[in-house]
Formats: sequence, structure tokens, C-alpha cells
Amino acid sequence: MEPSHSSDQGDSLESECCGNGCANCILDNKPKPSRRAQLSGQPNVILDYADFRLVHKEALMGDDKVLLLHFAYAVGSDKDDCILDIPPGHHVMLRIGSLLRPYSPFWTDFVRKEFKILVKLVLDGPMSQHLADLHIDDVLQFRGPIGSYLHDAKIAKYIIIIAQGVATAPTIPLVEEVLDNEDDMSRICHIVCARDMNHVYFRDRLLEFATYWNYQSCLYLPHQQCDTIVCQEKGHCSQDCDELRKSLRYRERAKIQRFDVHQLDVHVSSINKELLPIIIIAGDSSFQQSIKKIVAAAEFPVFEENIYLL
Ligand SMILES: Cc1cc2nc3c(=O)[nH]c(=O)nc-3n(C[C@H](O)[C@H](O)[C@H](O)COP(=O)(O)OP(=O)(O)OC[C@H]3O[C@@H](n4cnc5c(N)ncnc54)[C@H](O)[C@@H]3O)c2cc1C
Repeated sequence: MEPSHSSDQGDSLESECCGNGCANCILDNKPKPSRRAQLSGQPNVILDYADFRLVHKEALMGDDKVLLLHFAYAVGSDKDDCILDIPPGHHVMLRIGSLLRPYSPFWTDFVRKEFKILVKLVLDGPMSQHLADLHIDDVLQFRGPIGSYLHDAKIAKYIIIIAQGVATAPTIPLVEEVLDNEDDMSRICHIVCARDMNHVYFRDRLLEFATYWNYQSCLYLPHQQCDTIVCQEKGHCSQDCDELRKSLRYRERAKIQRFDVHQLDVHVSSINKELLPIIIIAGDSSFQQSIKKIVAAAEFPVFEENIYLL
């Protein structure tokens, strides 16, 4: 995909382009400080490339291709005259030499200047190779925040978040932002698309969210398969499979199919029509394109400016 930033910015900026065609290119959008950062009046350490030290690295759910990486600001992290501001829905750019790749933090500590990302390693990917080889205390350079998503808690909305696999990670702070604010009357419908239950990340967190009045989720698991002969022969569980039902936790809903326009219409039919619908799509570019087509074919209208790609 073509990079989205304008071409009149000179060679130095051209070389800063990661080539991903990001919906919100850092070269076009000056990061706006969050309200919290404005109130603090302190500088954001990540506005220019800054050093962050790896403090924890973990393969998630036994899969060594999915890494949870925890970084802490490397220069004077005990200094209290600066902050780390990466608002929900924003990403950061990782630079190693001339190699640039964006990553979306799912957790940030504003005061301690730390953040975590979930990374799916790609076969033969140059950045994936670097990240696979990382050791604790290695220092990497990140810059940001990049993005345009801004949630105004004063306007109640119906927020439909549609996430794919590891891209569920950056949707977690979006949900927390709404649920942590008792005055926020927005409702969230969290759609999580994964191969099967073993590829649903943050499952426990989703179950905690489900205890809130204004949150509901649904998992779409087309390849979920239990050990019974019937489901093994079929290649996947049926929707009324007993094993599947037993594996689900309290208030957990799962569909053995791909998410489609009919499913979107079903979720939307329960909306309070006075709420402004917002769609947030988190996944790789082919996922984003297929979900955008589903949204365009749905019965309810969503303005283009209310569709956000993470
Ligand atoms: C805004 C934004 C945020 C992102 N946030 C994250 C994040 O939080 N975690 C994360 O793991 N990745 C994220 N990515 C993807 C990430 O930037 C890199 O593309 C990825 O880590 C692979 O980099 P690489 O250099 O190893 O391989 P690349 O050279 O980028 O890719 C190698 C090959 O794999 C394909 N590929 C790349 N990524 C994927 C994928 N996810 N699924 C399937 N095929 C793929 C490419 O098309 C290419 O053919 C994000 C991308 C964008 C645009």
C-alpha cells in the first residue's frame, strides 16, 4: 500500500516513512497531547525518538510467535518532570537503524513511563527477527503517539470494536477508558475474531469487562474444534456443541463462524437509536478492508468519519 503522507515534505521525512500506508501517518499528524498530559504540563518523553529498555519478555499462551514486550523509559526513568503519554487508540513507531515499524501499546504507565505491546512475529519479517532476538535490558527507540482517535465521554456513543487476533491488544485501553469512567454513558460491543479459543488473547480481561452494564462481547471462532468424533469429522464444533458450551465462562458468547454483515446487523439491532454509532476496526490491512465492506453493507448508516482503523 502507498504511504499516505504528502510527498512535499522532503527526503529526510520520506526516509522516516515505515511504508505501511498507516491511516494516521505521523508525518502528517502532529501528535496532540491527551487532556491528562495537558493538565500535567509536563513534556512527553516519546515525542521524539527516545530510548526504552526491555524489562520483560514473555511468549503468550505457550506460543513463541506471540510476544508480550514490556518497555521502560531508559533515560532517567526516575525523573518526575516528564511523562509518557500514549492515549488509547494510538500507536508508536519503533526504529532500528533504517527499519521502521508501528506497534500499538495495550498498556501504558503515564508516570513511570512504561508501556507494553503484544507482537505477532511474522516469518522472514525483518523487525520480527529483531524482536525475537531481544534480550532483557536491550534498548530500543520509539516515537509517538500516532493516531487521531479521541473519545469524548460527554457524548454517549455505541462503540462497536471489531478486533482480529493479537490486534485485540490495542482495543483493551479503549474499553477501559469507557468503563473506568462512571459518568460515561457509552455502550461497547466488542467483537473478537480469532481462529479458535486458543487464539483469543486477553480472555480474562474480556470476562472482567463483561461484569459492566454497558459492555458486551462476542467471540467469532470459525475453527474452534473439540475432541469429539462428530466435531473432528466436521472440522469444527457445531454451534450447539456440548463441549463448546461447557468451555464457555459466565457471560461469554462464542459463535462458530466468521463475522459477517448479518451478525453486525444482529448486534446493532439492540442499539438505543439515540446513541451515535462508532466503529473501530483493529487488525491487519486485509482484515480492515473486509470489515469495512461488511460495515458498508450493513443496514444501519455509519458516517465515514466515525469509522476508525487502528
Ligand atoms: C498502525 C499499525 C499498528 C501495528 N501494531 C502492531 C502490534 O501492536 N503488534 C504487531 O505484532 N504488529 C503490529 N503491526 C504490524 C507491524 O508494524 C509489523 O508489520 C509486523 O511486526 C511485521 O514486521 P516485520 O518487519 O517483521 O515484517 P514485514 O516486513 O512488515 O512483513 C513481512 C511479511 O508479512 C506480512 N505481514 C506483516 N504483518 C502481518 C500480520 N500481522 N499478519 C499477517 N501478515 C503480516 C507482510 O505483508 C509481509 O508480506 C502494526 C501495523 C500498523 C500499520
